[in-house]
Amino acid sequence: MDNNTSSFYKVDRFADIEVLRYKVPGFEDLPLKQKLLVYHLSEAAIEGRDILFDQNNRHNLFLRKSLEHIYTAYAGDRNCAEFRAFECYLKQIWFSNGIHHHYSTIKHKPAFSEKYLNELLDKTAFKGDSSLLRKIIFDANFDTKRVNLAEGEDVIATSANNYYRNVSQKEAEDFYAAKQAGYPDGQAPSFGLNSRLEKDADGNLQEIVWKSGGEYGEIIDRIVSHLEKAAIYAENDKQKQVIDTLIDFYKDGNPATFDKYSILWVNDTLSKVDFLNGFIETYGDALGIKASWEGIVDFRNEEATRRTRTISENAQWFEDNSPVDARFKKEQVKGVSAKVITACMLGGDCYPATPIGINLPNSNWIRQVHGSKSVTLENIMQAYAEAAKGNGFAEEFYDSKDDLEAWYKYGFLTDVMHTDLHECLGHGSGKLLPGVSQDALKAYGACIEEARADLFALYYLADEKMVELGLLPDMEAFKAQYYHYLLNGLMTQLVRIPLNERIEEAHMRNRQLIAAWVYEKGNAANAVEWVVADGKHYLRINDYAALRKITGELLAEIQRIKSEGDYEAAKNLVEKYGIIPDPVLHREAHDRYESLDIAPYKGFVNPVYTVEYDNNGCPADVKISYDEGYAEQMLRYSAAYNK
Ligand code: ZN
Repeated sequence: MDNNTSSFYKVDRFADIEVLRYKVPGFEDLPLKQKLLVYHLSEAAIEGRDILFDQNNRHNLFLRKSLEHIYTAYAGDRNCAEFRAFECYLKQIWFSNGIHHHYSTIKHKPAFSEKYLNELLDKTAFKGDSSLLRKIIFDANFDTKRVNLAEGEDVIATSANNYYRNVSQKEAEDFYAAKQAGYPDGQAPSFGLNSRLEKDADGNLQEIVWKSGGEYGEIIDRIVSHLEKAAIYAENDKQKQVIDTLIDFYKDGNPATFDKYSILWVNDTLSKVDFLNGFIETYGDALGIKASWEGIVDFRNEEATRRTRTISENAQWFEDNSPVDARFKKEQVKGVSAKVITACMLGGDCYPATPIGINLPNSNWIRQVHGSKSVTLENIMQAYAEAAKGNGFAEEFYDSKDDLEAWYKYGFLTDVMHTDLHECLGHGSGKLLPGVSQDALKAYGACIEEARADLFALYYLADEKMVELGLLPDMEAFKAQYYHYLLNGLMTQLVRIPLNERIEEAHMRNRQLIAAWVYEKGNAANAVEWVVADGKHYLRINDYAALRKITGELLAEIQRIKSEGDYEAAKNLVEKYGIIPDPVLHREAHDRYESLDIAPYKGFVNPVYTVEYDNNGCPADVKISYDEGYAEQMLRYSAAYNK
């Protein structure tokens, strides 16, 4: 397979989903010991998949196994419309780790008939409970939504997840409030993180704990055995302690042990290989108490981490040379050196849909006392960018072939550089005047703060210092980001806002604010304009140097607003530029986007790792391959790592 085209990244397309694959650059160059560490941690990351299916809904595993039975056993026509609808449905179930959509959490609707399902069940000699299966799939009022957050409803009783049984919201809240009583505010261990709460026949509440010897005990024992093998290849004592303490947690099921593990994990900053494994994020529980199972394995991307180090080592230069008034600059600024990682394996709630950035642990008191780890999954970002090439999006919206080529050449590079500058320098730059409160800008504060960080990044992307430091190849690169940023802020990001609605989210507001302000000043100076052709708007930039200067002016003004706590100015700026989309561009963005048929949601298949042995039966190498398809991988996981 050609590894350098967008077709490498594209694996499958169904419903509202596109499945991609990601590369793991640098895996081949790891020493054998680290490869074996990655291998065993990866096995541990895949192993918990069925825990997540069962957490999401008590019928999910029965449903998946029944559908997989039909899918593999059916010998009839697999090309007819109804079978293809059945196949699409199964692919959706796999993707969302259960019957509810991974994002909306609403139950999937089958596009095949009950009659057709009966035919499939007959022809594949299905032995299970077919009436339950029909109820799960076709009864629209049964387990309708996985997580119900509707105000005024009992969010526990009406959510279809498997975290509570026969328990009301009030009972669950009281149960955990009582557990936390006696601990100083926010210092209690995360009680309830790894258990289901249910009421027994006598009406007593009890926790069914997910641990070795408890619920999911067999799967957890297999995870533990992979972790024990991984511990043999730990890079250092600290990392071995991290793994050992996680094993302790899986064995005792005590949330306090999980806190111990989290503290060790956050302090292990030297190991090259890193991982997450356990009950971590709580989005799947309306009360935010129960954590879904997930796993990720990764290693530090040295080149990218050098990049963020270079930026933060030069933090003072950037601060001193910014266009901001000297009164608002920090005399001593410290850059943050972000960690950039290469993901090697995604599991549980990070698979197939995955985050591109992670900031953990979630426990507030651990974050305050011990800090947190913030990482960017750069190879995942790269896969998104590569797969998007040729999806027609940029071709539809870009003004000229030159703009388009510049985007393909510099787009990804300047995207990550923009993020680095934003995170490592932007948020940390500048200072408040004495007596000004952090919260002076109230509801506008978040938007102004994001604008400040974005502007700092935009301003410096166009600075020769970036080329001098070896962070950008030339003085052309920034233009691709300027073009993209303005087009996105003025128009293309509006595809995510329903027509006639306002922009609410702080990052989206900040992007429109910057783009609209820079456009207004830039247009007056003939530096940028909208050109209309065939009834469509195309952004044309005539003078990048002028736009950079205008960007600096806005940065200076936003920093003044922040430093002085000028609420009225913040309000005027955000209200005038950041909130109301241009109605013509808004509608046009929707119309043009819809004609492209781009999947709104994306996820990934994993690479396959295979250990090779020498003549003595000792591991000699770990090979990575990228040729597994989506259904193929799902069926293999279901067969090899099941409950
Ligand atoms: Zn930010």
